[in-house]
Amino acid sequence: MEKKESPEDAVEYPIGDELDLHTFQAKDVRSVVEEYLYQCKKRGIREVRIVHGKGIGTQRKIVHSLLAKSPKVLSFAEAPPELGGWGATLVRIRVDQTIEEVFMEMKIGKSKLFLVRGDITKADTEAIVNAANSSLMGGGGVDGAIHRAGGSAVLAACKEIVAKQGRCPTGEAVITTGGNLPAKYVIHTVGPVWHGGDRKERELLSNAYRNSLAVAKEEGLSSVAFPSISTGAYRFPIAEAARIALTTVRDFLEENEMEEVRFVLFSEKDLAVYQEMLQEVMGGS
Ligand code: ADP
Repeated sequence: MEKKESPEDAVEYPIGDELDLHTFQAKDVRSVVEEYLYQCKKRGIREVRIVHGKGIGTQRKIVHSLLAKSPKVLSFAEAPPELGGWGATLVRIRVDQTIEEVFMEMKIGKSKLFLVRGDITKADTEAIVNAANSSLMGGGGVDGAIHRAGGSAVLAACKEIVAKQGRCPTGEAVITTGGNLPAKYVIHTVGPVWHGGDRKERELLSNAYRNSLAVAKEEGLSSVAFPSISTGAYRFPIAEAARIALTTVRDFLEENEMEEVRFVLFSEKDLAVYQEMLQEVMGGS
């Protein structure tokens, strides 16, 4: 499967843990640094040094203004002079670890469907979906990760919902704030526990996806990210779960427009299953 590449991919810049800008013209520095960070991120390189000439004030200014603003960089600082040596200043940066790699992108009507590998708590969609349990009080797996990253505001909002309307039945969905998450909202849905397939598990899983999308639509949201619901602790066989997830989302997007629906798969293995199934599902099932 083709990965999404940036248009600059063809350009070769030196990739290591250090970028030496001495040989570049000041006017090129911005694009060189941006491309370098992009490449590092793609290769999972997280700590790099950028070296620029002490005498070259313009380069220094450009690099600093770039790093100060860049969402790709978590922190940077001038390295002490003993590290830099004469005529050089070292800048240490930490490349953002949150990037997801897009493995598959598909258009359904005017909407885009993405399959990516990553951690859903880092997703920058307007809402992320939580594979919650009926109590809405948090748990293990993706649920625990979302509550940890979202913080107490998410749990407080869940408690309020439970106080008003009771537990969340399997297949239903509710929405809360995203708290400290990059996503503004969390849509909590409850997938079915797999008991062998004769307790309406398939229908309930499809409901979980459809009702999550319905909530997103009701709230006027334009982008939503899903994990692979029920395929962890709830033991739903992944291939079948992927087929149901993708079919349900496809059917919804055929009727409703949304800018983006993203599946954020935690493991390479899960991603591979979803990739294969998406081809099958889009091939006309
Ligand atoms: P369920 O109880 O619905 O089965 P789990 O959280 O146990 O939910 O697992 C659902 C899926 O979420 C599993 O495939 C698991 O690998 C995945 N998962 C766990 N943590 C994350 C995360 N931070 N981001 C995305 N997916 C995750």
